[in-house]
Amino acid sequence: MSAVADPRPDDESARVGIPAARRPGMRPEAPWDDPALGDIIVPAGELQDRIAVLGAAITADYARRPPLLVGVLKGACIFLSDLARAIALPVEMDFMAVSSYGTATRTSGVVRIVKDLDLDLSGRHVLIVEDIVDSGLTLSFLRRNLAARHPASLSVCALLVKEGLQSTPLDLSYEGFRIPPEFVVGYGLDVAERYRNLPFICEYLEGEPPDVAAPS
Ligand code: 5GP
Repeated sequence: MSAVADPRPDDESARVGIPAARRPGMRPEAPWDDPALGDIIVPAGELQDRIAVLGAAITADYARRPPLLVGVLKGACIFLSDLARAIALPVEMDFMAVSSYGTATRTSGVVRIVKDLDLDLSGRHVLIVEDIVDSGLTLSFLRRNLAARHPASLSVCALLVKEGLQSTPLDLSYEGFRIPPEFVVGYGLDVAERYRNLPFICEYLEGEPPDVAAPS
């Protein structure tokens, strides 16, 4: 739980992610027909439709207090770019980068700030914009760290949440999609810095997922 007030969205549909299942046979087409890529999990059109819903809910919830969007580099950069343009308010943006230490597939919860924010959060309505929540440990660190900077409110908007992997409640104000617990790439998410520019989210098939110690 955040230590500061958390504005609740009026539009309940933006609070809980839409389940997104692997679509057997829905494979990336040229120019993205790479054998390392598996089935598409969220097509490009569905990403944009959902972001319009999230943007409208955020616009309604923050009407009199435009938020400061805090993007978590690098994974959230594409989501934040589209989300910001779906919010009809004079938002501000800032970015931070963190490293999560752990095994190839799991973070340990030990997180280090690689790039800190430029702006002072005190008295601001802060909305953390995350690409994907897996164990939830990185988000838990971010929430504690940012809450200690005395924002007026602190909420979270996550594009993807992996189902069934979190041991504590995530308390997300806005969620894009609930996805199966598989390693995915695209729309900001990478493998060794590649695939961030895919316009959709798909499974990554080839080899072991990379170590998560690098900034995401
Ligand atoms: P956590 O387990 O702390 O919730 O996730 C930490 C970070 O690991 C995420 O912010 C993201 O950068 C990375 N991550 C988790 N799952 C995936 C995934 O399926 N694909 C990619 N590319 N990164 C992931």
